[in-house]
Amino acid sequence: MVTKSEVDVCVVGSANLDIVVPVPHHPVSGETVLGGDHVRVGGGKGANQAVAAARLGRSVAFVGCVGDDPAGVELRNGLITDGIDVSLLRIVRGAPSGIALIAVGPDGDNSIVVSPGANSRLNEQDIEAAAAALLVAKVTLLQLEVPVEVVTEAAESAGGLVILNPAPAQALTSRLLESVDVLVPNETELALLTGSSVATTFDEIVDQARLLPAARTVVTLGAQGALLVDETEMHHQPAPTVHAVDTTAAGDAFCGALADVLAEGGSLADAMAWGVMVGAATTLRFGAQSSLPTAGEVADLLQLP
Ligand code: ADP
Repeated sequence: MVTKSEVDVCVVGSANLDIVVPVPHHPVSGETVLGGDHVRVGGGKGANQAVAAARLGRSVAFVGCVGDDPAGVELRNGLITDGIDVSLLRIVRGAPSGIALIAVGPDGDNSIVVSPGANSRLNEQDIEAAAAALLVAKVTLLQLEVPVEVVTEAAESAGGLVILNPAPAQALTSRLLESVDVLVPNETELALLTGSSVATTFDEIVDQARLLPAARTVVTLGAQGALLVDETEMHHQPAPTVHAVDTTAAGDAFCGALADVLAEGGSLADAMAWGVMVGAATTLRFGAQSSLPTAGEVADLLQLP
């Protein structure tokens, strides 16, 4: 287990158990559909990003909540297996762990019900308990599957760079956005944050990103890679061409890879170049944490020389 003085990346966020069931078609209201065998996979954007950064070689501390149920034990053990410091993971008495019930249709189309459970109990005392880790971490990685006021406290307590992946999308206060060094939305989240319709050109993305008070914005664009926008410049990083089989957690892998490079003092352009490689490699395997690669696997999956 890492000690607080060694934390590269502190992740404050959600942990969910994903229960994935293949279905012949998605049920309509009142219908029962018989599916195939279910698979249990560690998920939740916070835990996914923590695992992504840990598998790439960073020391990671995770700040979050699980329930006092078997799913909570499973989630905690999964993080420990990836070498993540779970001393700031609180087990909430009487609360169920977060779960996601994911039905996957024949074409890979998902319908998902999330029950946040213990994730919704993360509170300001948890951030106070994490103060030392947040202060020393080179990068703090945040998302929006835990209460937004707690995310704001975490951003303000961070001593290093703050990355916010504003997912699931919701309107944010300028107090939070002003504490963020790098905002990482996808195109849909950027549109929602700026009250715009989804951009169709790079120029529109640049215009929308510049409406936000965050210093720098990196917009993820799926198979098109990512676009960095700051006050004066933009930089497009194309993605490697792959035959994606499942894009679940690609955005989380991208964020974990950004944190990996930025924690080492690399530039944001270098971080994006690594982010698109790790994101693309993640689309080549199924599931959330089950698809997140180590650095060595990125090269193998993308068949790099
Ligand atoms: P989100 O899942 O959060 O919407 P994206 O779909 O934009 O995020 O994916 C995040 C990153 O993963 C992209 O910026 C890209 O680098 C990589 N990625 C996602 N889908 C593909 C794909 N089909 N081909 C190559 N890279 C991809």
